Amino acid sequence: MTNSDNTILGAAATDSVSQVLFEDLGLHADILRALSEEGYSNPTPIQAQAIPIALSGQDLMGAAQTGTGKTAGFCLPILQNLLPHSNYSASPARHPVRALVLTPTRELADQIFDNVRRYAKYTALRSTVVFGGVDIVQQHQQLRQGVEILIATPGRLLDHVQQKSVNLSQVQILVLDEADRMLDMGFLPDLQRIINLLPQQRQNLMFSATFSNEINKLARSFMRSPVTVEVARRNATSENIQQVVFPVEFVDYKLSAVSHLLRHYQLKQAIVFTNTKLAAGRLVRQLLADQISACAIHGDKTQSDRMKALDAFKSGEVTVLVATDVAARGIDIADLPCVINFDLPHSPEDYVHRIGRTGRAGAQGVAYSLLAPGDERHLVEIEKLIKKSLTQTALIDFNPVLQRGRFTPRSSQQTTTRLVPPGDVTSRLGSRRRLSKDEKTTELRFDEEFERLRRRLQQSVVHDDLFRFPYTEKLVAVTPSSGFEFVAAKRSRPKSVQSHSSLAVLLGGVPKHK
Ligand code: AMP
Repeated sequence: MTNSDNTILGAAATDSVSQVLFEDLGLHADILRALSEEGYSNPTPIQAQAIPIALSGQDLMGAAQTGTGKTAGFCLPILQNLLPHSNYSASPARHPVRALVLTPTRELADQIFDNVRRYAKYTALRSTVVFGGVDIVQQHQQLRQGVEILIATPGRLLDHVQQKSVNLSQVQILVLDEADRMLDMGFLPDLQRIINLLPQQRQNLMFSATFSNEINKLARSFMRSPVTVEVARRNATSENIQQVVFPVEFVDYKLSAVSHLLRHYQLKQAIVFTNTKLAAGRLVRQLLADQISACAIHGDKTQSDRMKALDAFKSGEVTVLVATDVAARGIDIADLPCVINFDLPHSPEDYVHRIGRTGRAGAQGVAYSLLAPGDERHLVEIEKLIKKSLTQTALIDFNPVLQRGRFTPRSSQQTTTRLVPPGDVTSRLGSRRRLSKDEKTTELRFDEEFERLRRRLQQSVVHDDLFRFPYTEKLVAVTPSSGFEFVAAKRSRPKSVQSHSSLAVLLGGVPKHK
């Protein structure tokens, strides 16, 4: 169905596969063979609609949320359209860059490269990827040999342009993937510089999970009458992701709340998003202390550390990947059951991107968000964007003080936790509705446990007068009998005070007595 403004409205993203077959799209047998080895028989809705348009050479704007299969949606037509140029010549001149795919992050670039390689494995088309944070010399060698398909992050591509290791004068197809994120990350000037280096006559494909006015403006600046393909409502979140918000009383409780969620819901794996690198580091330390295997990816990590962390997570070696938005953008992890928002993102579009890591290609997923005082305005913005109010529910078995135990997934359910429907909102620490009988019992049990722990802590406090007053040299007097005595009340310097040794006393030394 095409409407008046050149928009093709497709099925919802949840209709993950259509009745169309890849064979029906007119793809070459070598590509079909690779697809069948991947186990793909039917194109996803975005693929079913984007592939014929891209094959026809028209410009295309794909409004597809992550996990819809949009990567193959642009990779397959690129391969098909470049097949006439494929050759086995060893001469680099016979392998100019004909398709350029720009992505915001290194991880996404690497992922797309991996997809292209798999889909193109029975063709003679060459591809490579260049991104920052790794040795540029090796990339020079790859580029010098010649590649038809180049996947790149903008900054590193411009480094290569400057070093004259890449020639973009024969690019026929330009893809901007995750275009909204590229704008968020301030890549606009780089994109403009790159676009200026390309031939005027080319096809442009742009994909974005969210569509803002800035994106439309960018599209108008370099695309020619693009056909817009939408497979899900703009800025919508997938229907197969269960979204729940858990209020916590204090920001600091979030650290142990993550372990609690993993334990309580017996989550096999989760990506946890933090807004800052600092919080990511703190959370990893807390998870490790709670005996949960975890690692972090963020901008301060080296590229090789980020790749290692991602690989460990993808292989299931690590339970939790703690990530900031920049690092985790576009990451595709098969069957990821859960995303946790340790912090709610400041930009509501990021919420859509984050939770799009789960519930991919028709699978079910859960997205949990922790809500601390002060976060409410971010929640309001998110709900406004996704046009949905999110279910809030109490972390019923959660006690941040008692929560610092070992991570042992519960084999049998001692208490059952029910998700509270929207409107039935509460936090045990700020109740706004009447608790059920079960919950009251749980509340009581926690209050008793908390009180017991508080009393124990009180008893174990050692009272030492030395720590009851601020340190001044005058306060410590050395006596023959006890080594030193506390003379806090004395203003005048007593005879026995030895100022030169009082510091040694405080630092644990035993002063000599003559
Ligand atoms: P993407 O949105 O491109 O990151 O793709 C999300 C996931 O869907 C990836 O793991 C792809 O391997 C998978 N995928 C892509 N196309 C298909 C298809 N036609 N059938 C089944 N899975 C697919």
